[in-house]
Amino acid sequence: MAPVKFTKVLCTKSHPLQNPSLGAGYVGGPTCAVITLKCPHITVTIVDLNKARINAWNSPDFKLPIYEIDLEDVIRACRGHNLFFSTDVEKGIREAELIFVSVNTPTKKSGVGAGFAADLNYVELATCQVAVVATTSKIVVEKSTFPCRTAESMCTIQVNSKPGCHFDILSNPEFFPEGTAISDLFKPDRLSKLAANAMLTQRISSVNALSICEVTVANINEVVNAVGYDSRVGHKFLKASIGFSGRCFQKDILNLVYLSKSLYLPEVAMNKYQKLCFSKHVVDTLFNTVTGKRIVVFGFAFTAGTGDTRESAAITFIRDFQSERAFVNFYDPQANVKKQVKICKSAFEARRDAEAVVIATKWKEHRSHEVGCEWAYPSINRPP
Ligand code: ADP
Repeated sequence: MAPVKFTKVLCTKSHPLQNPSLGAGYVGGPTCAVITLKCPHITVTIVDLNKARINAWNSPDFKLPIYEIDLEDVIRACRGHNLFFSTDVEKGIREAELIFVSVNTPTKKSGVGAGFAADLNYVELATCQVAVVATTSKIVVEKSTFPCRTAESMCTIQVNSKPGCHFDILSNPEFFPEGTAISDLFKPDRLSKLAANAMLTQRISSVNALSICEVTVANINEVVNAVGYDSRVGHKFLKASIGFSGRCFQKDILNLVYLSKSLYLPEVAMNKYQKLCFSKHVVDTLFNTVTGKRIVVFGFAFTAGTGDTRESAAITFIRDFQSERAFVNFYDPQANVKKQVKICKSAFEARRDAEAVVIATKWKEHRSHEVGCEWAYPSINRPP
């Protein structure tokens, strides 16, 4: 169904449209918060099975379960007015006219397509739940990034499931980049997701593949700046890094690789290799051993501006350094991690007694004069 019909449905309502989101995560939270800010006549209830997450969204001091720049301001403006958070999923479904399905779609860990294909179990469960609980017709919008044809499966699950209820399924996957989700929701400029992410990751990998610069001591920033002036190339997304990170890049590429494999097309993936090269480079620099040495990792979120740590490059480094029996300190202004490393309260504390500093996330404060390389270099431990 064309998206225009969805707009018409919204406009023809004379009473506040009840509009819940199933899933209060990185997709459902920011998306629905911005909808409520921009559309005060729409009431949105964000429901989630995870009680702790909902409690955090409702916390009196706005200690939200996810971090995104400016998200707290939007929640402060709307929560309790036309934006509500609840664990009562069934009530949310019953009262809704339009439902966003924003549940998790992790990469499959076992079975067909393991390690590549998206696990659609949560989507199926949520879709069945809507079909079972609904007592009136609904518009159901798939908001998470689902593989092609998921809407068809949702349709099959819901169509004719209940006499008197009609379900329209719309596909409107989220497009915002984490770290700038709120500003991007205000001014979106993306019309495709999987293909765009494939192109973006290729750009990152291509720049990182210019390792000839490192060997010849050329300045990679100057090289890419010059390349960016070629109008066919452009400047954006041409920053050399330690391999791309983040849930969507990783997941979308794996999906694409899976799809390509099913179509008998060969895979191209060098991101893992680039991360491995970086860990190896650190070990090499520290005289080929990091055993017993202390390495500080600044940044655990996969990118600056978010608290999301899924598929973060820092995870790879920490694992690599720990397998080499190094001690790892880490500090991130927002992201939390399970306690397999020493979590420090400040960058200052983190770098104490360290032999190496790895800046894994481009937080402003990590790039700043006080915390960044210039600051860290003189204070790190060196051999006598
Ligand atoms: P994403 O990054 O795609 O938003 P998250 O894991 O951050 O993924 O959020 C997905 C949320 O969806 C989780 O908090 C999970 O508890 C919730 N969820 C999964 N299935 C359901 C369901 N059937 N009903 C309500 N919430 C659900």
